[in-house]
Amino acid sequence: MTGAIKFLPSRTFAAVAFAVFGFVGLIIWGEYSSWQSQVARIEADLVQTAKALVQHADDTVDMAKFPLAALITQIEQERGTPDMPAKITQVMKRQIATTRWLDALAVIDADGRMIATSSSIDASGLNFSDREYFVFHQASETRDPVLGRPLKNKLSGQWILPVTQRISNPDGSFGGVALAAFILTELTNFFQGFSLGSEGSFLLVRRDGVVLARAPFLQTQLGSSISSYDLFTTYLRQSDSGSYHYTSPIDETQRIGGYYRSKHSGLVGLSAASQSETLATWMRGARIRWMSCLILVTITGFLVWRWRRQIMLRRASEALLVAREAEFRLLAEGSGDLIQRFNGNGIREYLSPSVREILGVDPDAMIGTHILENLHEDDHEVVSQLMERLRQGSTRENMVVRRKRADGKQIWLETTLNRLPGGTGADIRIVAVTRDVTRQKNIQEELDALANTDELTQLANRRSFNIHFEDMVLQAAKQLAPLSILMIDADRFKFFNDTYGHAAGDDCLRALADVVRGSIRRSRDFTARYGGEELAVLLPDTDGAGALKAAEKIRQRVADLKLPHEKNLPWGYVTISIGTATFHPARGDRLTTAELFEYADHALYRAKNSGRNQVAAAGDEAVRALGRPDMKSF
Ligand code: GH3
Ligand code: MG
Ligand code: MG
Repeated sequence: MTGAIKFLPSRTFAAVAFAVFGFVGLIIWGEYSSWQSQVARIEADLVQTAKALVQHADDTVDMAKFPLAALITQIEQERGTPDMPAKITQVMKRQIATTRWLDALAVIDADGRMIATSSSIDASGLNFSDREYFVFHQASETRDPVLGRPLKNKLSGQWILPVTQRISNPDGSFGGVALAAFILTELTNFFQGFSLGSEGSFLLVRRDGVVLARAPFLQTQLGSSISSYDLFTTYLRQSDSGSYHYTSPIDETQRIGGYYRSKHSGLVGLSAASQSETLATWMRGARIRWMSCLILVTITGFLVWRWRRQIMLRRASEALLVAREAEFRLLAEGSGDLIQRFNGNGIREYLSPSVREILGVDPDAMIGTHILENLHEDDHEVVSQLMERLRQGSTRENMVVRRKRADGKQIWLETTLNRLPGGTGADIRIVAVTRDVTRQKNIQEELDALANTDELTQLANRRSFNIHFEDMVLQAAKQLAPLSILMIDADRFKFFNDTYGHAAGDDCLRALADVVRGSIRRSRDFTARYGGEELAVLLPDTDGAGALKAAEKIRQRVADLKLPHEKNLPWGYVTISIGTATFHPARGDRLTTAELFEYADHALYRAKNSGRNQVAAAGDEAVRALGRPDMKSF
């Protein structure tokens, strides 16, 4: 599992990084295509605009044919008549009045003199023979109207575009020039109707490269030639229409140009838009997309970073856990004690290998077993209470309990249970350290037995009697049950020793002990050697009559042994005397062990005095003798 964890993330992160880079790459590619198509669209628009403007210019120039044709017809009709100039001036004035885009009409004779004009200003002194159009028509036979260079009308001050036509004499010789002057702004105003942006521009160029019009208006360029520009040297040679990118020689800005050349007139239109302005328009849309993309990538990056951090933290804490577990096992496995781990329900989760030695079971076989399993029944209650205390918050508990080994042998186990930090109730975990204390327990029991047993008779000794006596009186008082005591004393035993020797006396005492032991049947009855040749018997749940009966039985059995005792007359064999006393808590008795004992001893004294080999019970007489009139129950 650790291997998988170590391996998995680096591959996953590589995949995530690949996906993110792929995504960003796709976005960049998409944006580039979007920009390309934007440029292509603009280029197409510019070409269309150029085409529309050129067609408009063509139409305008065509329209000039009519006034010029009318003028020339008039001149031919009136040729030679003296009032010809006055007549054609009238015709021209009418034309001008009805044609908005015409600035002026004029007629120049073969010598370059203006013979008639629509203008009211007198130009009769001026000579036009040096004008480009004049020189052209003088040399050319063509009868078609011709576009001239734009110029400022000396008479009206307007920028005009002259359209001129040759006037031929009847013999075909050069007879002068008819001129129609277009108002240039009429043309450029039309250009302005096309939106080319604040930095866009439009040029109308004559076939030979002479600039006829420019929008926005730029006086210096009008009439100049751009025939050396790339448009003429490269692009128009390839195609009549198209687009190209260039740096404007006028304002140094990067421009996209769309051009179109009229097949009809040879006029060329160039409409141009600023590249940065076009980009700015596109950027407005792109910026929103880029911001969204950036936010998306940032959020993804942040989430991946957090995810990675969490995995690292988890990995670190898992490694720590593994290290702790290994440490714990190392300690546990090096220990001779049995180390176990339990959950809050008392189920084993771990056992150290020393369980084989202590319980004779394989550790794996015991995992999942309950703490009470194979425990001595009498210890179940103690262990259950102890587990409950741990669940309630106790941090450490101790217990000494009996358990069955795999071979069936019962052993004593001493265990310290420590609750691990963290968790409450059934969620707790407990580490238990257990050692086999059977040997110590046995030695202890042996010592206890030795300390409480009389060596000669193997009955309980006086120390043990005192402890038991105290317990039994308390218990009787609690249960309101009677408790009787028998005090047994061998008759004239001093003489027995004197006659038969001390060893025989010991044998005789053992025989007496056997008789008493044999006569006491109930498990809770208790017999002890109280002193030299005195035995004491405690009979719980036994009233005065019962005690007398038991005493009498013992006395009779001893007599029946007929152990020779020649000095114990009149019988000549061993006899005993017994004094009995009974404690009756149910009748309201309140007395100490010492008092009860004293009553029995007093009764024994009476039995001796009354001739020996008999039983006497403590009674009212005894009570009175003790000066305790309130103890009338004896
Ligand atoms: P009584 O009938 O009045 O009881 O006469 P007694 O001789 O028994 O008098 P007492 O109780 O005063 O004497 C007890 C004697 O028991 C003293 C001692 O010689 C004897 N005795 C006490 N302990 C032992 C013992 O452990 N072994 C032997 N052999 N004799 C003991
Ligand atoms: Mg005695
Ligand atoms: Mg005696």
